[in-house]
Amino acid sequence: MSDSFPRIDEPVAREQVVEVCRRMHAGGLIAGGEGNVSVRLSASRLLVTPSGVNKGFLKPSDLVAIDLQGRPEARGGKVSTEVRLHLAAYRARPDIGAVVHGHPPTAVAFTLAGLSLDQRLVPESVVALGEIPTAAYATPSSEDVAAGVERLICEHDVVMMERHGSVCVGPNVLAAFDRLESLEHTAKISFLARSLGVPRPLSDDEVARLHRLAEAQGGARRPRTQARSPAQPGPDVDALADEVLSRVLKALSRRE
Ligand SMILES: [Zn+2]
Repeated sequence: MSDSFPRIDEPVAREQVVEVCRRMHAGGLIAGGEGNVSVRLSASRLLVTPSGVNKGFLKPSDLVAIDLQGRPEARGGKVSTEVRLHLAAYRARPDIGAVVHGHPPTAVAFTLAGLSLDQRLVPESVVALGEIPTAAYATPSSEDVAAGVERLICEHDVVMMERHGSVCVGPNVLAAFDRLESLEHTAKISFLARSLGVPRPLSDDEVARLHRLAEAQGGARRPRTQARSPAQPGPDVDALADEVLSRVLKALSRRE
């Protein structure tokens, strides 16, 4: 296991996971006992949310430390079978420190309708989220779901699972949550645009320009596997996205 992921103290990680779960529940990105969140504490330890409880009301002590086979360290720790998604993501991405799995309703509705979220409508999502692939339907909690995510997450920070939900990854749990929030926001904008007419995607030239700006700031978003080799950790993608977005907004405002 590579050790290129960002380190975090366990008490801080517990507080951040609880806060992210609270925001996911408050934001309607999970409901009931849905969703799960994890943080990589070390090369051999993960911290995950417990199964069978509403994640909107967790305490830091409710979280469960597990090994890389998904086995709880302490007796009595209950872990969802969906932990397979998380283990698959960490296997595929040695650079990430956190995984957030939610059921964002608008984004999931797109998969029910057979519509892709990879529509290149909004500059922010093009830069901050990149391409958003959708894994074909598989029975929730099955190994097939984990395998589908593992294939896609190595090249992407956000993956949709058909008829199910999303997997967002990041250097830490706050960054992964930001991607989930942006994903649902982008899906809502796309839905509204479709209800008003036929959305006009950004041109290939403009998308290429956005990617060139991203590259000029320190690295391309793709191909992910080359950009994030353990020997050469990737750029701070979140800072990069902020910078590129502000440049794009400035450029757009100059045109008006
Ligand atoms: Zn789920």
